[in-house]
Amino acid sequence: GAGGEVDDAVHFFSASRHTELGQRLTVEAHLRRALERGELRLVYQPKVTVREQRVVGFEALLRWTNPELGTVSPLDFVPIAERTGLILPIGSWVLEQACRQMEQWTSRLVRPVKVAVNLSPRQFHQKSLIDTIRRCLAQYRVGEGCLELEITETALMSREHEVDRRLHEIRELGVELAIDDFGTGYSSLAYLQRFPVSRLKVDRAFVRDLGRDEDSAAIVLSIVNLARGLKLQVVAEGVETESQLAVLREMACDEYQGFLFSKPVEADEVPALLARAG
Ligand code: C2E
Ligand code: MG
Ligand code: MG
Ligand code: MG
Repeated sequence: GAGGEVDDAVHFFSASRHTELGQRLTVEAHLRRALERGELRLVYQPKVTVREQRVVGFEALLRWTNPELGTVSPLDFVPIAERTGLILPIGSWVLEQACRQMEQWTSRLVRPVKVAVNLSPRQFHQKSLIDTIRRCLAQYRVGEGCLELEITETALMSREHEVDRRLHEIRELGVELAIDDFGTGYSSLAYLQRFPVSRLKVDRAFVRDLGRDEDSAAIVLSIVNLARGLKLQVVAEGVETESQLAVLREMACDEYQGFLFSKPVEADEVPALLARAG
């Protein structure tokens, strides 16, 4: 009857709310065991020069495949990992895995390769981070300047003094620093002067509309010029078309990453890719 419909509506509403929460909890529960079950791996996307399309390094990107959930995007699980603190063990694993991988590649590589690892805000502020990095560098004999850490502006925005000290601690280990998703964080530009970073990565959102939208071109050009003025390298993310690349070449942007050159590849494909495109 009519009462049933109202009832059903209420149940439907609360059931779907439960489902959403349930899904998040399911993801979290699975994520908790993902490490020990060996469900995580890293893939590597080349970073190349704009001028000659020479490979200058790779970015390590986390992948998760779960028997029940299938492949889950880092855009979905990294925020959950960050919120729950699971990013700390997962992030340490990523660092260690990338360094281990560099050592495993050594004998198969035509020249030493640089790998960039993403660091979440929580991981950046973790007390034990410096010890973890130092241990990984020593254990896997990672060369000076071969490891780079990508940090988003948001991680750098609070507690300036602490952030500054932490960045210097990382630099003192011979590890380079890049600011990821640059241009999306609303932070003051003053910090660029002081922080020991060597690279800015222009967010994909601005690159996407290059060649179509003049405002995006204006923003990218400003970032490229800003970087040049501060003697920083600048990398454009998410380059998919020749026309985007042509605009970046015109602007004298240093490097790019994107599907145009290559999607992220499996670890064992890296030596061949480097030999082919080095
Ligand atoms: P990000 O660090 O800005 O990484 C770039 C993302 O853009 C990657 O997505 C990459 O696959 C994608 N991409 C590269 N070229 C293109 C292109 O031409 N077109 C398009 N449409 N996309 C492109 P992915 O691997 O899904 O990672 C998404 C985000 O998840 C990363 O953004 C990063 O914030 C986070 N993430 C990934 N791996 C890790 C990790 O190991 N630790 C942490 N803390 N975060 C990670
Ligand atoms: Mg990144
Ligand atoms: Mg990025
Ligand atoms: Mg991005």
